[in-house]
Amino acid sequence: MIHAKHPNLIFNYCPSCGSEAFQQNGDRSKKCDHCGFHFFFNTSAAVAAVITDAEGRIMFTRRAVQPHKGMLDLPGGFVDPMETGEVALERELEEELGATVKKMSYLCSFPNVYPFSGTQVFTLDLAYQVELESLENLTPMDDISGIEFYYPDEVNLDELPAQSMKNILKKLQQHG
Ligand SMILES: [Zn+2]
Repeated sequence: MIHAKHPNLIFNYCPSCGSEAFQQNGDRSKKCDHCGFHFFFNTSAAVAAVITDAEGRIMFTRRAVQPHKGMLDLPGGFVDPMETGEVALERELEEELGATVKKMSYLCSFPNVYPFSGTQVFTLDLAYQVELESLENLTPMDDISGIEFYYPDEVNLDELPAQSMKNILKKLQQHG
């Protein structure tokens, strides 16, 4: 288990004026008693692709970076500011795999806690069913070491560290 603290415990000083009087304000915000600056720890949006081959096997990526280096993941990533989920996923699939999207449709969403840089990043992971132009000549780039295909029932959920990805898989297993 990777040790990661709630952001409330990491943000000790007011990011606006530098005061130590940066106080907890409810569950998910901190407010500065000195200058009044109020910061919310909001959920970040992320996207994930469920891509199946002709045999109905799902495509997974093998992570080449921390957190969870060497474990499985679904292709995807964080949504950039002012991006739609669809555009973010098209961009991520191009960046990670050199893949071009043919069709996509929204599937479901699950929350997750992503340990990063000693803190917890809260995400809402939006899953899409994606059909690529081609499954040939995909080039793993960036932060993945390779791609692997598994039938929904054959995936070892212990190899899938993100709770949101486990939940997406469970949903696919139920409906498969
Ligand atoms: Zn302040």
